[in-house]
Amino acid sequence: MLRVSGLRKAFGEHEVLRSIDLEVVQGQVLTLIGPSGSGKTTALRSLNGLEIPDAGRVEVAPDLSVDFAAPVAKRDLARLRDCSAMVFQHYNLFPHMSVLANVVEGPVRVRNRPRDEAVAEAERLLERVGLSDKRDSFPHQLSGGQQQRVGIVRALAMRPRVLLFDEPTSALDPELVGDVLGVIRELAEEGWTMVVVTHELAFAQEVADQVVFMDQGVVVEHGAPEAVLTAPREERTRQFVRRLQ
Ligand code: ATP
Repeated sequence: MLRVSGLRKAFGEHEVLRSIDLEVVQGQVLTLIGPSGSGKTTALRSLNGLEIPDAGRVEVAPDLSVDFAAPVAKRDLARLRDCSAMVFQHYNLFPHMSVLANVVEGPVRVRNRPRDEAVAEAERLLERVGLSDKRDSFPHQLSGGQQQRVGIVRALAMRPRVLLFDEPTSALDPELVGDVLGVIRELAEEGWTMVVVTHELAFAQEVADQVVFMDQGVVVEHGAPEAVLTAPREERTRQFVRRLQ
């Protein structure tokens, strides 16, 4: 479960999030859509404290709720970060490390898992996304789609409660998008709890349990994909969906 209420964030005078509420049920997928600059990435990054909101509450478990109205204790922020793992638009792999080392680094250093156990799990995960033969390659030797699949494996290896995706396919050549979306689709079918910022409306329609449309720092409309994407109630949503289809 992931519940967010009253999330606010300003950069200087610019109010980027103006009281955002979201709720993701365990095992469900929420996709965040909206125009460029509407605050989607800032909202996503606030869910795991990569961005520190000015106000609002993020609850990831009954015993873990962080209120950003007051300064947050380092320990609480660390616990919040431990609950989720992020897949970035530009992959953010460590360029000087092999694929395997990229995946093993977090579990060993952050989670204190024994290295041989972490390596065995990394190998299993790489096999499942079809990248076993790339374990000793370096990121620059891989295509964008392969790098992003490593990014997803690296997130899974942390065994988070929630997976966060920030436009995971928008840096990819069109012919590579399908493979990455295929992996995310499988994770959804397996029951991972996920929040996905995306411009891929067809994907949102197919995979999401809930679509949230944001504009200018507010949630304009949310609901089942067929409602928000095919029969939007709000004019702003209608215009956005029409433009992308
Ligand atoms: P896109 O679809 O283009 O990625 P978005 O909906 O994800 O956009 P955000 O990346 O959350 O939007 O940005 C929202 C606004 O906040 C933008 O106007 C952006 O310029 C601004 N912004 C984001 N991060 C910062 C920052 N660190 N400092 C100043 N302004 C920022």
